[in-house]
Amino acid sequence: MFAWLRSRRRRAIGERPVPAAWREILRQGVRQLDWLEPRDTGRLLEWIAVFLEEKRFEGCRGFTITDEVKVTIAAQAGLVVLGFQDEWFDGLKSLLVYPGDYLVPRVTPLEGGGQLEWREARLGETWAGGSMVLSWPGVRAGGRLRDGPRSVVIHECAHLVDLLDGEIDGVPPLPAANASRWRTEMAACRGRFESLLDDGRSVAFDDYACESAAEFFAVASECFFQDPHRLMRQDAMLYGLLAEAYRQDPIARVPVRPARG
Ligand SMILES: [Zn+2]
Repeated sequence: MFAWLRSRRRRAIGERPVPAAWREILRQGVRQLDWLEPRDTGRLLEWIAVFLEEKRFEGCRGFTITDEVKVTIAAQAGLVVLGFQDEWFDGLKSLLVYPGDYLVPRVTPLEGGGQLEWREARLGETWAGGSMVLSWPGVRAGGRLRDGPRSVVIHECAHLVDLLDGEIDGVPPLPAANASRWRTEMAACRGRFESLLDDGRSVAFDDYACESAAEFFAVASECFFQDPHRLMRQDAMLYGLLAEAYRQDPIARVPVRPARG
């Protein structure tokens, strides 16, 4: 579709009145909205309306997609790109939602030959081909701030932001002048995080972050949006790098001890 036509269409969708049911879903199930200024809440509501119009939602293993499911996912996704102009994750076409954790077949080669076949439980997954897989209990816990700094939606959307420059490599799109400094400082943050873990110290976010540069970016991003003070206490440089990447400063809006729902 022509870009101008699409943006006109999106503007028209955003101007529709917000259904009262959405406000109730958000009030109960997406606590992060309590932190936003009215102007940002308005922008997020428009973003949600466009997202719901453009993405396909599919229930898996008998799961029924309702407005609650769609709005709870969209609101957390929209929070991630609130600092961007006109970013709706065009590469993302469909969202597959499971009623619980879903199992992914994994194969581990064994020393001396043979292989171990097993299944790994996951909360979410993003494929570069245009789909995102989410577990509903994970989506809900993230929206209600019931799982510490975790949010599976924010995690998967962090991968999508990372992918905007064509590759999920832990480096989001940045102005060329800043990219190499950002990359070097991010690697230093990752090294510090791994040293804390090696020393058996407590850390602000899940050690799954050690898997790769991409996972470090995604897991730290969850903490950045869900409990930025916790991230700042651990590593102010990391907070600053994420603020630069997302063009947002959540510490200014999130209370030191967020209320859990
Ligand atoms: Zn991930």
